[in-house]
Amino acid sequence: MNLKIYNYLTRKKEPFKPIKKGSVGFYACGPTVYDYAHIGNLRTYVFEDVLKRVLEVSGFKVKEIMNITDIEDKIIAGAKKAGKNIDDFSKPYKKAFFEDLNKLNIKKSWKYPEATKHIPEMVKMAEKLLQKKIAYQAKDGIYFNISKFKSYGQLANPKPSDRKDFVIWKYAKKGEPFWKSPFGPGRPGWHLECSAMSMRYLGASFDIHAGGVDLLFPHHENEIAQSEGATGKRFVKYFVEGEHLLVDGNKMSKSLGNVFTLRDLACRGFNPIAFRYLALSANYRSRLNFTWESLEAAQVALDRLYEFIFSLHQNSSFSSRLTLPRNSGGSDASQKIKSFGLNFQKAIFDDLNTTKALAVIWQLIKDYNKSASRRTQKYAPKEVLSALYGFDEILGLGFKNLKAKSPSEIALKLLKERERARKTRDFKKADRIRERIRRLGWQVNDTPTGSNLNPVTSHD
Ligand code: AMP
Ligand code: ZN
Repeated sequence: MNLKIYNYLTRKKEPFKPIKKGSVGFYACGPTVYDYAHIGNLRTYVFEDVLKRVLEVSGFKVKEIMNITDIEDKIIAGAKKAGKNIDDFSKPYKKAFFEDLNKLNIKKSWKYPEATKHIPEMVKMAEKLLQKKIAYQAKDGIYFNISKFKSYGQLANPKPSDRKDFVIWKYAKKGEPFWKSPFGPGRPGWHLECSAMSMRYLGASFDIHAGGVDLLFPHHENEIAQSEGATGKRFVKYFVEGEHLLVDGNKMSKSLGNVFTLRDLACRGFNPIAFRYLALSANYRSRLNFTWESLEAAQVALDRLYEFIFSLHQNSSFSSRLTLPRNSGGSDASQKIKSFGLNFQKAIFDDLNTTKALAVIWQLIKDYNKSASRRTQKYAPKEVLSALYGFDEILGLGFKNLKAKSPSEIALKLLKERERARKTRDFKKADRIRERIRRLGWQVNDTPTGSNLNPVTSHD
Protein backbone atom coordinates (compact mmCIF):
# COMPACT_ATOMS: atom_id res chain seq x y z
CA MET A 1 0.00 0.00 0.00
CA ASN A 2 1.28 3.44 -0.86
CA LEU A 3 1.19 6.34 1.58
CA LYS A 4 -0.81 9.41 0.62
CA ILE A 5 0.19 12.59 2.37
CA TYR A 6 -1.09 16.16 2.26
CA ASN A 7 1.54 18.40 0.70
CA TYR A 8 1.25 22.10 1.53
CA LEU A 9 3.23 22.98 -1.60
CA THR A 10 0.40 21.76 -3.80
CA ARG A 11 -2.38 21.84 -1.15
CA LYS A 12 -3.28 18.32 -2.19
CA LYS A 13 -3.09 14.81 -0.83
CA GLU A 14 -0.41 13.16 -2.94
CA PRO A 15 1.04 9.67 -3.25
CA PHE A 16 4.39 9.68 -1.47
CA LYS A 17 7.31 8.98 -3.82
CA PRO A 18 10.79 9.61 -2.48
CA ILE A 19 13.41 11.42 -4.54
CA LYS A 20 15.82 8.51 -4.16
CA LYS A 21 14.42 5.00 -4.28
CA GLY A 22 14.28 3.26 -0.91
CA SER A 23 15.29 6.14 1.35
CA VAL A 24 13.66 9.25 2.75
CA GLY A 25 15.27 12.50 3.86
CA PHE A 26 13.06 14.01 6.55
CA TYR A 27 13.65 17.23 8.48
CA ALA A 28 11.44 18.28 11.37
CA CYS A 29 11.80 21.64 13.08
CA GLY A 30 12.72 20.90 16.65
CA PRO A 31 12.45 22.79 19.92
CA THR A 32 13.67 26.26 20.76
CA VAL A 33 15.21 25.43 24.11
CA TYR A 34 14.25 28.41 26.26
CA ASP A 35 11.61 26.52 28.25
CA TYR A 36 10.10 23.06 28.66
CA ALA A 37 8.21 21.74 25.62
CA HIS A 38 4.47 22.33 26.01
CA ILE A 39 1.82 19.82 25.02
CA GLY A 40 1.26 21.64 21.70
CA ASN A 41 4.88 21.11 20.73
CA LEU A 42 4.57 17.50 21.86
CA ARG A 43 1.49 16.93 19.73
CA THR A 44 3.54 17.97 16.71
CA TYR A 45 6.43 15.67 17.67
CA VAL A 46 3.99 12.76 18.07
CA PHE A 47 2.52 13.26 14.59
CA GLU A 48 6.03 13.48 13.11
CA ASP A 49 6.90 10.26 14.92
CA VAL A 50 3.87 8.51 13.41
CA LEU A 51 4.91 9.69 9.95
CA LYS A 52 8.44 8.38 10.49
CA ARG A 53 7.11 5.03 11.73
CA VAL A 54 4.78 4.67 8.72
CA LEU A 55 7.67 5.31 6.36
CA GLU A 56 9.81 2.78 8.19
CA VAL A 57 7.09 0.16 8.20
CA SER A 58 6.77 0.79 4.44
CA GLY A 59 10.38 -0.32 4.09
CA PHE A 60 12.11 3.03 3.61
CA LYS A 61 15.36 3.88 5.29
CA VAL A 62 14.38 7.12 7.00
CA LYS A 63 17.04 9.72 7.65
CA GLU A 64 15.18 11.92 10.07
CA ILE A 65 16.68 15.05 11.54
CA MET A 66 15.26 17.12 14.32
CA ASN A 67 17.24 20.25 15.00
CA ILE A 68 17.66 22.01 18.30
CA THR A 69 17.40 25.77 18.12
CA ASP A 70 19.78 26.83 20.86
CA ILE A 71 20.51 30.38 19.71
CA GLU A 72 17.55 32.70 19.22
CA ASP A 73 16.08 35.91 20.68
CA LYS A 74 14.01 34.17 23.38
CA ILE A 75 17.04 32.18 24.54
CA ILE A 76 19.20 35.28 24.75
CA ALA A 77 16.49 37.11 26.71
CA GLY A 78 15.93 34.15 29.05
CA ALA A 79 19.65 33.68 29.71
CA LYS A 80 20.07 37.37 30.46
CA LYS A 81 17.20 37.27 32.93
CA ALA A 82 18.61 34.18 34.61
CA GLY A 83 22.12 35.69 34.71
CA LYS A 84 23.56 32.71 32.82
CA ASN A 85 25.37 32.13 29.56
CA ILE A 86 23.16 30.64 26.82
CA ASP A 87 24.66 27.13 27.13
CA ASP A 88 24.03 26.86 30.86
CA PHE A 89 20.60 28.37 30.42
CA SER A 90 19.41 26.00 27.68
CA LYS A 91 21.03 22.79 28.96
CA PRO A 92 18.22 21.67 31.32
CA TYR A 93 15.62 22.28 28.59
CA LYS A 94 17.58 20.20 26.10
CA LYS A 95 17.75 17.40 28.63
CA ALA A 96 14.03 17.67 29.40
CA PHE A 97 13.23 17.59 25.68
CA PHE A 98 14.88 14.18 25.29
CA GLU A 99 13.17 12.90 28.43
CA ASP A 100 9.81 13.97 26.99
CA LEU A 101 10.48 12.19 23.68
CA ASN A 102 11.37 9.08 25.59
CA LYS A 103 8.28 9.16 27.79
CA LEU A 104 6.09 9.55 24.72
CA ASN A 105 7.65 6.55 22.93
CA ILE A 106 8.93 8.82 20.18
CA LYS A 107 11.54 6.93 18.22
CA LYS A 108 15.01 8.39 18.12
CA SER A 109 15.81 10.55 15.12
CA TRP A 110 18.87 9.94 13.03
CA LYS A 111 20.46 13.18 14.27
CA TYR A 112 19.68 16.14 16.52
CA PRO A 113 21.93 18.93 15.25
CA GLU A 114 22.30 22.00 17.45
CA ALA A 115 22.38 25.40 15.81
CA THR A 116 25.38 26.65 17.81
CA LYS A 117 27.47 23.75 16.45
CA HIS A 118 26.71 24.58 12.80
CA ILE A 119 27.59 28.24 12.54
CA PRO A 120 30.22 27.72 9.76
CA GLU A 121 27.56 26.12 7.50
CA MET A 122 25.26 29.09 8.14
CA VAL A 123 28.01 31.61 7.43
CA LYS A 124 28.83 29.82 4.18
CA MET A 125 25.23 30.01 3.06
CA ALA A 126 24.98 33.70 3.87
CA GLU A 127 28.21 34.27 1.88
CA LYS A 128 26.77 32.46 -1.09
CA LEU A 129 23.59 34.54 -1.02
CA LEU A 130 25.70 37.71 -0.81
CA GLN A 131 27.85 36.60 -3.73
CA LYS A 132 24.75 35.91 -5.80
CA LYS A 133 23.42 39.33 -4.77
CA ILE A 134 20.23 37.79 -3.45
CA ALA A 135 21.23 39.11 -0.03
CA TYR A 136 22.54 42.53 0.96
CA GLN A 137 24.23 44.18 3.90
CA ALA A 138 22.22 46.62 6.01
CA LYS A 139 22.99 48.51 9.21
CA ASP A 140 21.95 45.79 11.62
CA GLY A 141 22.63 42.67 9.59
CA ILE A 142 22.40 40.82 6.31
CA TYR A 143 19.03 40.63 4.65
CA PHE A 144 17.46 38.40 2.02
CA ASN A 145 16.07 40.39 -0.90
CA ILE A 146 12.79 38.70 -1.75
CA SER A 147 12.44 40.58 -5.05
CA LYS A 148 15.47 38.57 -6.27
CA PHE A 149 13.68 35.29 -5.67
CA LYS A 150 10.85 35.01 -8.16
CA SER A 151 8.92 32.17 -6.58
CA TYR A 152 8.75 33.77 -3.14
CA GLY A 153 5.39 32.91 -1.57
CA GLN A 154 5.06 29.51 -3.29
CA LEU A 155 4.30 27.72 0.00
CA ALA A 156 2.18 30.07 2.09
CA ASN A 157 1.07 32.66 -0.47
CA PRO A 158 1.29 35.52 2.05
CA LYS A 159 -0.56 38.77 1.47
CA PRO A 160 1.51 41.57 -0.13
CA SER A 161 2.00 43.44 3.18
CA ASP A 162 3.61 40.35 4.72
CA ARG A 163 6.14 39.94 1.92
CA LYS A 164 9.20 41.57 3.44
CA ASP A 165 12.94 41.20 3.18
CA PHE A 166 14.10 39.22 6.19
CA VAL A 167 17.28 38.99 8.22
CA ILE A 168 19.64 36.06 7.74
CA TRP A 169 22.54 37.29 9.89
CA LYS A 170 22.17 39.71 12.78
CA TYR A 171 25.12 41.87 13.72
CA ALA A 172 26.31 41.54 17.30
CA LYS A 173 24.74 43.77 19.90
CA LYS A 174 26.39 44.66 23.17
CA GLY A 175 26.11 41.92 25.79
CA GLU A 176 24.80 39.32 23.32
CA PRO A 177 26.59 36.16 22.17
CA PHE A 178 28.20 36.37 18.74
CA TRP A 179 30.32 34.44 16.23
CA LYS A 180 32.94 35.75 13.85
CA SER A 181 32.20 35.85 10.13
CA PRO A 182 33.77 37.41 7.03
CA PHE A 183 31.02 40.03 7.05
CA GLY A 184 31.29 40.91 10.72
CA PRO A 185 30.55 39.37 14.12
CA GLY A 186 26.96 38.35 14.77
CA ARG A 187 24.57 35.43 14.91
CA PRO A 188 22.35 33.59 12.45
CA GLY A 189 18.66 34.29 11.90
CA TRP A 190 16.34 31.43 12.85
CA HIS A 191 15.34 30.59 9.26
CA LEU A 192 18.97 30.36 8.17
CA GLU A 193 19.64 27.85 10.94
CA CYS A 194 17.13 25.34 9.58
CA SER A 195 18.17 25.82 5.93
CA ALA A 196 21.82 25.22 6.75
CA MET A 197 21.34 22.28 9.10
CA SER A 198 18.88 20.43 6.88
CA MET A 199 21.06 20.72 3.79
CA ARG A 200 24.20 19.82 5.75
CA TYR A 201 22.81 16.35 6.46
CA LEU A 202 20.20 15.74 3.76
CA GLY A 203 21.69 17.53 0.73
CA ALA A 204 20.31 20.38 -1.38
CA SER A 205 17.05 18.53 -2.11
CA PHE A 206 15.23 16.21 0.25
CA ASP A 207 11.81 14.62 0.67
CA ILE A 208 9.90 15.85 3.71
CA HIS A 209 9.98 18.96 5.83
CA ALA A 210 7.63 18.97 8.81
CA GLY A 211 6.51 21.17 11.67
CA GLY A 212 3.41 22.82 13.10
CA VAL A 213 1.21 25.03 10.87
CA ASP A 214 2.52 28.18 12.55
CA LEU A 215 5.83 27.51 10.76
CA LEU A 216 4.38 27.74 7.25
CA PHE A 217 4.95 31.46 7.29
CA PRO A 218 7.40 33.00 7.56
CA HIS A 219 9.71 30.19 8.71
CA HIS A 220 9.30 27.57 6.02
CA GLU A 221 8.64 30.08 3.24
CA ASN A 222 11.91 31.82 4.09
CA GLU A 223 13.79 28.56 4.36
CA ILE A 224 12.73 27.74 0.80
CA ALA A 225 13.81 31.17 -0.43
CA GLN A 226 17.27 30.95 1.16
CA SER A 227 17.94 27.36 0.21
CA GLU A 228 16.68 27.52 -3.37
CA GLY A 229 18.26 30.96 -3.76
CA ALA A 230 21.63 29.53 -2.74
CA THR A 231 21.56 26.23 -4.66
CA GLY A 232 19.20 26.85 -7.57
CA LYS A 233 17.64 23.46 -6.84
CA ARG A 234 14.27 22.49 -5.43
CA PHE A 235 14.65 22.40 -1.64
CA VAL A 236 11.87 20.07 -0.44
CA LYS A 237 9.35 17.83 -2.17
CA TYR A 238 6.66 17.59 0.55
CA PHE A 239 5.87 20.13 3.25
CA VAL A 240 3.80 18.37 5.91
CA GLU A 241 2.44 20.54 8.71
CA GLY A 242 0.40 19.58 11.76
CA GLU A 243 -2.50 21.60 13.13
CA HIS A 244 -2.35 23.15 16.56
CA LEU A 245 -3.39 21.97 19.94
CA LEU A 246 -5.66 24.35 21.86
CA VAL A 247 -6.41 24.28 25.57
CA ASP A 248 -10.06 24.73 26.54
CA GLY A 249 -10.62 26.25 23.12
CA ASN A 250 -7.87 28.85 23.54
CA LYS A 251 -4.39 29.33 22.25
CA MET A 252 -1.93 28.43 24.97
CA SER A 253 -0.43 31.47 26.60
CA LYS A 254 1.41 32.25 29.81
CA SER A 255 -1.10 35.00 30.64
CA LEU A 256 -4.02 32.53 30.52
CA GLY A 257 -2.06 30.09 32.67
CA ASN A 258 -2.87 27.28 30.25
CA VAL A 259 0.59 26.30 29.03
CA PHE A 260 0.97 22.70 30.17
CA THR A 261 4.00 20.43 29.98
CA LEU A 262 4.28 16.68 30.24
CA ARG A 263 5.40 17.19 33.86
CA ASP A 264 2.11 18.94 34.65
CA LEU A 265 0.24 15.93 33.28
CA ALA A 266 2.33 13.44 35.26
CA CYS A 267 1.84 15.55 38.39
CA ARG A 268 -1.88 14.94 38.09
CA GLY A 269 -1.35 11.20 37.91
CA PHE A 270 -1.61 10.67 34.14
CA ASN A 271 0.55 8.28 32.15
CA PRO A 272 2.40 10.29 29.44
CA ILE A 273 1.25 7.67 26.94
CA ALA A 274 -2.33 8.73 27.68
CA PHE A 275 -1.33 12.04 26.12
CA ARG A 276 0.05 10.18 23.12
CA TYR A 277 -3.28 8.35 22.84
CA LEU A 278 -5.12 11.68 23.01
CA ALA A 279 -2.88 13.11 20.28
CA LEU A 280 -3.60 10.09 18.05
CA SER A 281 -7.32 10.34 18.64
CA ALA A 282 -7.44 13.42 16.39
CA ASN A 283 -6.01 13.58 12.90
CA TYR A 284 -2.88 15.65 12.66
CA ARG A 285 -4.55 18.07 10.23
CA SER A 286 -7.41 18.87 12.61
CA ARG A 287 -7.13 21.08 15.61
CA LEU A 288 -7.08 19.22 18.89
CA ASN A 289 -8.81 20.81 21.84
CA PHE A 290 -7.15 19.67 25.05
CA THR A 291 -9.21 19.53 28.23
CA TRP A 292 -8.49 17.60 31.42
CA GLU A 293 -11.66 15.59 30.75
CA SER A 294 -10.40 14.57 27.32
CA LEU A 295 -7.11 13.45 28.86
CA GLU A 296 -9.01 11.49 31.49
CA ALA A 297 -11.00 9.78 28.71
CA ALA A 298 -7.76 8.97 26.88
CA GLN A 299 -6.30 7.49 30.07
CA VAL A 300 -9.39 5.31 30.54
CA ALA A 301 -9.20 4.13 26.92
CA LEU A 302 -5.51 3.34 27.25
CA ASP A 303 -6.03 1.41 30.49
CA ARG A 304 -8.75 -0.62 28.75
CA LEU A 305 -6.44 -1.41 25.86
CA TYR A 306 -3.73 -2.54 28.28
CA GLU A 307 -6.22 -4.65 30.18
CA PHE A 308 -7.31 -6.30 26.95
CA ILE A 309 -3.69 -7.11 26.15
CA PHE A 310 -3.13 -8.60 29.62
CA SER A 311 -6.13 -10.83 29.12
CA LEU A 312 -4.83 -11.93 25.71
CA HIS A 313 -1.52 -12.87 27.33
CA GLN A 314 -3.25 -14.97 29.92
CA ASN A 315 -5.45 -16.66 27.35
CA SER A 316 -2.72 -17.17 24.81
CA SER A 317 -0.39 -19.07 27.14
CA PHE A 318 -3.32 -21.17 28.25
CA SER A 319 -4.55 -21.94 24.76
CA SER A 320 -1.10 -22.68 23.38
CA ARG A 321 -0.85 -25.54 25.85
CA LEU A 322 -4.26 -26.92 25.21
CA THR A 323 -5.08 -26.47 21.57
CA LEU A 324 -3.74 -28.21 18.52
CA PRO A 325 -1.88 -26.15 15.93
CA ARG A 326 -4.30 -24.29 13.71
CA ASN A 327 -4.42 -24.53 9.98
CA SER A 328 -2.76 -21.41 8.67
CA GLY A 329 -5.19 -18.84 7.27
CA GLY A 330 -8.01 -21.20 8.03
CA SER A 331 -10.60 -19.85 10.36
CA ASP A 332 -13.09 -17.06 9.87
CA ALA A 333 -11.52 -15.26 12.81
CA SER A 334 -8.11 -15.22 11.09
CA GLN A 335 -9.73 -13.81 7.99
CA LYS A 336 -11.38 -11.16 10.11
CA ILE A 337 -8.07 -10.19 11.70
CA LYS A 338 -6.67 -9.81 8.22
CA SER A 339 -9.48 -7.54 7.19
CA PHE A 340 -9.16 -5.42 10.34
CA GLY A 341 -5.44 -5.21 9.52
CA LEU A 342 -6.24 -4.02 6.03
CA ASN A 343 -8.63 -1.37 7.35
CA PHE A 344 -6.04 -0.19 9.82
CA GLN A 345 -3.47 0.12 7.06
CA LYS A 346 -5.90 1.90 4.75
CA ALA A 347 -6.65 4.47 7.46
CA ILE A 348 -3.02 5.14 8.30
CA PHE A 349 -1.85 5.27 4.70
CA ASP A 350 -4.58 7.78 3.94
CA ASP A 351 -2.74 10.84 5.25
CA LEU A 352 -2.17 9.27 8.71
CA ASN A 353 -5.80 8.90 9.73
CA THR A 354 -5.05 7.83 13.30
CA THR A 355 -8.64 8.48 14.44
CA LYS A 356 -9.89 5.80 12.09
CA ALA A 357 -6.98 3.49 12.89
CA LEU A 358 -7.84 3.58 16.61
CA ALA A 359 -11.49 2.94 15.77
CA VAL A 360 -10.43 -0.23 13.91
CA ILE A 361 -8.69 -1.48 17.05
CA TRP A 362 -11.84 -0.94 19.10
CA GLN A 363 -13.91 -2.76 16.47
CA LEU A 364 -11.53 -5.70 16.67
CA ILE A 365 -11.79 -5.77 20.47
CA LYS A 366 -15.56 -5.59 20.33
CA ASP A 367 -15.70 -8.43 17.86
CA TYR A 368 -13.27 -10.49 19.90
CA ASN A 369 -15.36 -10.09 23.03
CA LYS A 370 -18.52 -10.94 21.14
CA SER A 371 -17.02 -14.06 19.67
CA ALA A 372 -15.50 -15.09 23.03
CA SER A 373 -18.98 -15.40 24.44
CA ARG A 374 -19.99 -17.69 21.58
CA ARG A 375 -18.92 -21.29 21.19
CA THR A 376 -17.77 -21.26 17.61
CA GLN A 377 -15.30 -19.27 15.53
CA LYS A 378 -13.23 -17.95 18.36
CA TYR A 379 -10.25 -15.75 17.72
CA ALA A 380 -6.86 -17.17 18.60
CA PRO A 381 -5.54 -14.76 21.28
CA LYS A 382 -2.03 -15.09 19.91
CA GLU A 383 -3.12 -13.97 16.46
CA VAL A 384 -4.94 -10.98 17.92
CA LEU A 385 -1.88 -10.10 19.98
CA SER A 386 0.40 -10.24 17.00
CA ALA A 387 -2.00 -8.03 15.00
CA LEU A 388 -2.05 -5.50 17.84
CA TYR A 389 1.73 -5.54 18.05
CA GLY A 390 1.81 -4.82 14.34
CA PHE A 391 -0.53 -1.84 14.75
CA ASP A 392 1.59 -0.59 17.60
CA GLU A 393 4.68 -0.39 15.39
CA ILE A 394 2.91 2.70 14.06
CA LEU A 395 0.90 3.93 17.03
CA GLY A 396 3.65 3.49 19.62
CA LEU A 397 1.32 3.01 22.59
CA GLY A 398 3.71 0.58 24.24
CA PHE A 399 1.72 -2.65 23.79
CA LYS A 400 4.84 -4.80 23.75
CA ASN A 401 6.25 -3.27 26.91
CA LEU A 402 3.36 -4.83 28.79
CA LYS A 403 4.62 -8.32 28.07
CA ALA A 404 6.40 -8.95 31.33
CA LYS A 405 4.01 -7.03 33.54
CA SER A 406 0.70 -7.97 35.06
CA PRO A 407 -2.10 -5.66 36.18
CA SER A 408 -1.15 -6.36 39.80
CA GLU A 409 2.47 -5.29 39.23
CA ILE A 410 1.30 -2.06 37.65
CA ALA A 411 -1.22 -1.53 40.43
CA LEU A 412 1.51 -1.92 43.05
CA LYS A 413 3.70 0.58 41.26
CA LEU A 414 0.81 3.01 41.13
CA LEU A 415 0.11 2.41 44.81
CA LYS A 416 3.64 3.55 45.66
CA GLU A 417 3.18 6.62 43.49
CA ARG A 418 -0.09 7.33 45.29
CA GLU A 419 1.62 7.07 48.67
CA ARG A 420 4.20 9.58 47.56
CA ALA A 421 1.42 11.92 46.44
CA ARG A 422 -0.36 11.55 49.79
CA LYS A 423 2.86 12.31 51.65
CA THR A 424 3.15 15.58 49.80
CA ARG A 425 -0.57 16.20 50.46
CA ASP A 426 -1.37 16.11 46.73
CA PHE A 427 -4.77 14.52 47.26
CA LYS A 428 -6.11 15.31 43.82
CA LYS A 429 -3.34 13.27 42.28
CA ALA A 430 -3.77 10.54 44.88
CA ASP A 431 -7.47 10.26 44.03
CA ARG A 432 -6.80 10.05 40.35
CA ILE A 433 -4.28 7.27 40.89
CA ARG A 434 -6.78 5.44 43.09
CA GLU A 435 -9.18 5.50 40.12
CA ARG A 436 -6.54 4.12 37.78
CA ILE A 437 -5.76 1.32 40.23
CA ARG A 438 -9.46 0.55 40.42
CA ARG A 439 -9.68 0.23 36.68
CA LEU A 440 -6.93 -2.37 36.85
CA GLY A 441 -9.19 -4.37 39.13
CA TRP A 442 -7.87 -3.40 42.58
CA GLN A 443 -9.41 -1.54 45.46
CA VAL A 444 -7.10 0.61 47.60
CA ASN A 445 -7.41 0.11 51.34
CA ASP A 446 -5.90 2.79 53.52
CA THR A 447 -4.99 1.60 57.00
CA PRO A 448 -3.08 3.31 59.83
CA THR A 449 0.00 1.25 58.96
CA GLY A 450 -0.12 1.90 55.21
CA SER A 451 -2.14 1.11 52.11
CA ASN A 452 -2.82 -2.24 50.50
CA LEU A 453 -4.80 -3.68 47.61
CA ASN A 454 -7.80 -5.96 47.48
CA PRO A 455 -9.36 -7.30 44.31
CA VAL A 456 -12.46 -5.36 43.29
CA THR A 457 -15.57 -7.43 43.87
CA SER A 458 -18.82 -6.93 42.02
CA HIS A 459 -20.45 -4.97 44.84
CA ASP A 460 -17.46 -2.59 45.38
P1 AMP B 1 9.09 25.86 19.06
O1 AMP B 1 9.79 25.20 20.21
O2 AMP B 1 8.22 26.99 19.46
O3 AMP B 1 10.08 26.25 17.98
O4 AMP B 1 8.09 24.80 18.40
C1 AMP B 1 8.39 23.45 18.19
C2 AMP B 1 7.32 22.79 17.36
O5 AMP B 1 6.04 22.85 17.99
C3 AMP B 1 7.11 23.45 15.99
O6 AMP B 1 6.93 22.44 15.02
C4 AMP B 1 5.83 24.25 16.16
O7 AMP B 1 5.15 24.44 14.95
C5 AMP B 1 5.05 23.35 17.08
N1 AMP B 1 3.99 24.04 17.87
C6 AMP B 1 4.06 25.22 18.53
N2 AMP B 1 2.89 25.50 19.16
C7 AMP B 1 2.06 24.46 18.90
C8 AMP B 1 0.69 24.14 19.26
N3 AMP B 1 -0.04 24.92 20.03
N4 AMP B 1 0.17 22.98 18.78
C9 AMP B 1 0.90 22.15 18.01
N5 AMP B 1 2.18 22.39 17.64
C10 AMP B 1 2.76 23.52 18.07
ZN1 ZN C 1 12.88 25.17 11.43
